[in-house]
Amino acid sequence: MLVDAHAHIDIKDFDKDRDQILKKCNIIVVNAGVDLESNLKSLELEKKYSNVIAAVGFHPEFVKNKINELDKCLELVEKARIISEVGLDYFWIKEDELRKKEIEILSRFLEIGEKEQKPLIIHVRGGFNDLVTILSSYKVKFVIHAFEGSIKNAKRVIELGGLISMPPILLRDKTRQEIIKNVDLEYILTETDSPFMAHEKMIRNEPCNVQLTIEKIAELKNIDIQEVEKKIENNFKKLLHL
Ligand SMILES: [Zn+2]
Repeated sequence: MLVDAHAHIDIKDFDKDRDQILKKCNIIVVNAGVDLESNLKSLELEKKYSNVIAAVGFHPEFVKNKINELDKCLELVEKARIISEVGLDYFWIKEDELRKKEIEILSRFLEIGEKEQKPLIIHVRGGFNDLVTILSSYKVKFVIHAFEGSIKNAKRVIELGGLISMPPILLRDKTRQEIIKNVDLEYILTETDSPFMAHEKMIRNEPCNVQLTIEKIAELKNIDIQEVEKKIENNFKKLLHL
């Protein structure tokens, strides 16, 4: 079975063909909520589709204009098996004050993750060092979604017990290809971040494109495609204590 560990299929880009898209291949899809409305949609999707797992979170970019939704988002975590989308974004958020707030918010989600033993699927754009510092104070299972950065940073994630998740953009991103070559399959997950991060520019990404990532990983690591698929499925099951 394929695994899409991070997607946004609740958004309106999928209103016309969500059913077909989720049935196109044998896949399990984690839908990440980014604000109150999408967290609620994420939970609805889990009820409607047997192959969707709801994740609830609060996207760090919304520290700027949706902070009033935070408490309700935190409350909804108890209804989900996975916490996402949470993390640190220093690419869009430049103000020190707001970055501090991002750290504070992420810490609250980490606390819940530790207490309720729920894995976190984390967004980080800039702020990697701050993320490592915070993560080292919690005992949680976590994944860095759409990992970007150096091989050295990838290894720091693994030292902390985390996994690295790769979207189909891998097919056209040489830096990410180097990461895949240098990280053991044991620590890799697949995702799409649909509708973003596709293998081609300007097209809508969708969950079954995970197949393309699997094929690319197999090629880069010179391993059988089925073996990669099986291993990633197992990595995901371990993450969820299945
Ligand atoms: Zn995302």
